[in-house]
Amino acid sequence: MNITTSSIKEQLQNQAPEGNKRISREQAEWLWKNASNDELIELASIVRDRYHKPNHATYLLMRIINYTNICVAKCDYCSFYRLPRDKDGYVRDNQWIFSKIDELTAVGGDLFGFNGGFNPQLKIEYYEELFGKIRQKYGDTIEFYALTVVELLYIARLSKLSTPEALARLKAAGVRWITGGGAEILADSFRLRHSPLKYTVAEYMETQRDILDAGLNSTATMVIGFDESLDERLSHLETVRNFQDERLNSGKNGLFSFLCWTYKPYNNELGGEEIGSDEYLRHLALCRIYLDNIKHLRTSVLTQNEAALQGLRYGADDFDVPWEDEVTQMAGAIVEQDLERVLGYAHTAGFETSYRHVASNSRTFQERALAAKGK
Ligand code: SF4
Repeated sequence: MNITTSSIKEQLQNQAPEGNKRISREQAEWLWKNASNDELIELASIVRDRYHKPNHATYLLMRIINYTNICVAKCDYCSFYRLPRDKDGYVRDNQWIFSKIDELTAVGGDLFGFNGGFNPQLKIEYYEELFGKIRQKYGDTIEFYALTVVELLYIARLSKLSTPEALARLKAAGVRWITGGGAEILADSFRLRHSPLKYTVAEYMETQRDILDAGLNSTATMVIGFDESLDERLSHLETVRNFQDERLNSGKNGLFSFLCWTYKPYNNELGGEEIGSDEYLRHLALCRIYLDNIKHLRTSVLTQNEAALQGLRYGADDFDVPWEDEVTQMAGAIVEQDLERVLGYAHTAGFETSYRHVASNSRTFQERALAAKGK
């Protein structure tokens, strides 16, 4: 059967005779090669509308806390890591970490992401103590993404624990979220070329399964713009969609969201050229159309700045306004901290916005709401 945009549109709208509302990998490839931007926007909106109100998006304020830059994974695209004996390697102390949390809550933010590296000095006890102290000090007024999938796997192995054992200990310390970081491109050919020590696709997905089975929340991520092929990109999407199918079809919890951002080629071994916003936005639309079983598609303000808000037209429904992320900033990302300006870009793209609470008792926002009511 000939693939056309109108036949895919009918399919997504459930008007195709066979009643299949989902596109195949072959159709995704065809769309990438042949569909215009307007067509991608239209198709992505059909899938977006299954989950979200049109012209409305959610956002949150988020700070990445880079608690250590020591890492032995040596990915060639990384601008951030230092090896254990390097003079400028660091592990931040708790006071430094608390001050980073306090700075963001003072301006109304309540979500933090911890991101370090494969630091051979930091075993599970370090993380139990750190996250336990954070939960003790801040309770439910903030929330945090404790680790990425690959960090978790590294720490478990370093500590001679199974991943479920490591997860049980972290959960007892107050951890509720892990993120899908460390995915980049989920194709073993890509990982062998650029990050052979960062685990295979099977190991990564198995760890995702363990996280969700432990009752924690997790997300999916993807980074594009290295030297990955279209086939490798499609493999990534297919792996994530199949995984989410497996979870949801057996009545289990699935991945909360999918976030894609772009590689920044500065100050690292791999180098290269940045891809343009047009390619990012087209890819975002393809993600929305193909990943029909993940509710939230997030657009990356951190790596795309103003253009990221155009991503709302290409199927995204959520974004964070990043306060700090050393990893991507060292690779060339420019942090846009002006909340009003970022929200203005979303409004210009045609979207109303509202804050998405992750913390169950976000004191700063409750206080703001009460103040606004004059109480
Ligand atoms: S990308 Fe992450 S895992 Fe890879 S070298 Fe950098 S810090 Fe380490």
